[in-house]
This record gives sequence, C-alpha cells and structure tokens, in this order.
Amino acid sequence: MSCIFCKISAGEIPSYKVYEDENTLAFLDINPVSTGHILVVSKKHFANFEEADEETLCQVIKTVKKIGLSLKKNLAVPGYNVAVNNDPAAGQAVPHLHFHVIPRLLDDGLKPWPPKKYQENQAEEVLNKIKIS
Ligand code: 5GP
Ligand code: ZN
Repeated sequence: MSCIFCKISAGEIPSYKVYEDENTLAFLDINPVSTGHILVVSKKHFANFEEADEETLCQVIKTVKKIGLSLKKNLAVPGYNVAVNNDPAAGQAVPHLHFHVIPRLLDDGLKPWPPKKYQENQAEEVLNKIKIS
C-alpha cells in the first residue's frame, strides 16, 4: 500500500484527527490554506471522485457537513469552501478521494478561480456537448 491517505486512514502515518467513523476520516491538512483547513477522506481507496461508489460519496459528504458545522460552531468562521481537486489537471496531488473543507473569512483575500465571459454562441455549443438527457 503506497497511498499516503490509506496510510493515514490505517494509522500508519500520524495525523491530527478531527473526526472518524467506520467509513470516513477527517484530519488537518499539513499545509493549510487557512487555519482549520481539513481533509475528509473515505477509508476505502478510490483514485478520484467518479471512481467512488455513491454510498461512499454519501458517507464522505455527511462527514463534510459535520466538519463544516464544527468549524462554524467552534472556530466561529462565517463560511467555508468545500472543494475537490479532481485529477492532476485540476490540481489533485494525492490520488485518493478527498474533500477539502477550507475556513473562510469575509474579505480574507483568497480568490480561488478567476471568472471569464462566454463569447457569442460558446455557452450553447458547450451545453449541447455536455447536456445529460
Ligand atoms: P490535492 O491537491 O490532492 O487536492 O490535496 C492534497 C492535500 O493533502 C494538500 O492540501 C496537502 O497539503 C495535503 N497533504 C499531503 N500530504 C499530507 C500528509 O502527509 N498529511 C496531511 N495531513 N496532509 C497532507
Ligand atoms: Zn488510498
């Protein structure tokens, strides 16, 4: 087993655990974007988001919700980002299903994604390609 998050789940690598249940684990990110940045992982190994079965995704998202509530209650943060970097092109460095929960403050200056505008017909073109019927 070479996966770092499998090793953390199995207790072979130490982590600052925030929450654990039968199927999921939440721990502090070693390089936080902001104080209290937490990673929520499934204990089962899945390389990315769409490889994971729906039951696992439900389990993980329930833990994400618990973490968000704890951040608001115990750190008094007014908001947080829930993010998945899915695949290397999207910045995924660890190929094991995980959600980032990142505490945010009003006016903290973090700007995750620069927005653009669609050119003429571009929205319709992409819509026709990706629409699920
Ligand atoms: P990704 O880029 O794959 O979405 O995010 C991986 C995250 O895992 C990064 O934010 C990184 O700081 C965190 N990370 C990588 N290795 C470790 C580790 O050994 N322990 C902890 N707690 N976090 C880690
Ligand atoms: Zn793994």
